Amino acid sequence: MRRLSMLDDVRCCSLCAAHLPLGPRPILQWHPQARILIAGQAPGLKAHEAGVPFTDASGERLRGWLGLTAEQFYNPQLVAILPMGFCFPGSGKSGDLPPRPECAPAWRQALLQPLKNLQLTLVIGKYAQAWHLPDNKTSLTQTVAAWQQYLPHIIPLPHPSPRNNIWLKRNPWFAEQLLPELKARVNAVLS
Ligand code: SF4
Repeated sequence: MRRLSMLDDVRCCSLCAAHLPLGPRPILQWHPQARILIAGQAPGLKAHEAGVPFTDASGERLRGWLGLTAEQFYNPQLVAILPMGFCFPGSGKSGDLPPRPECAPAWRQALLQPLKNLQLTLVIGKYAQAWHLPDNKTSLTQTVAAWQQYLPHIIPLPHPSPRNNIWLKRNPWFAEQLLPELKARVNAVLS
């Protein structure tokens, strides 16, 4: 009971409200039985407005990468979605601002600790990679290119945003080699 009430505690959080242009609205998906963790960056404007993570083009692409239906993706007993910042951080000149730095120290350990059934963690983008792969000192591209060294329980990914289309074009090995393995791992975890 206490564990699920932790979600209520997060949803009432206003720790960094002064820095959030649209105010606090934590967007996360969590259940202690989750088998896959999506460790992402921060919700975008559409997710903020909907109150649901990945309700945008990034989410459609991510579900395609994973081979999951929306129903599977939004089942918290299968998939936990914990971005590095739970609230929309606002936008800057070149896209959304980074996740608020107050969020992960305040909540992350308490939410990760009960996830005893986790079999696969997908670490999306440089902020999540800095937290979940702390020994990693390389660029995002180098980290994702070294994906095989993190198997079988972790797979680093770039952000699925359309803003990364050029990155995806420049790194064809991602679609040719990593994505088939990613789908196979997700399928194995869920079956
Ligand atoms: S971003 Fe995190 S720390 Fe800041 S108000 Fe939202 S839940 Fe709280």
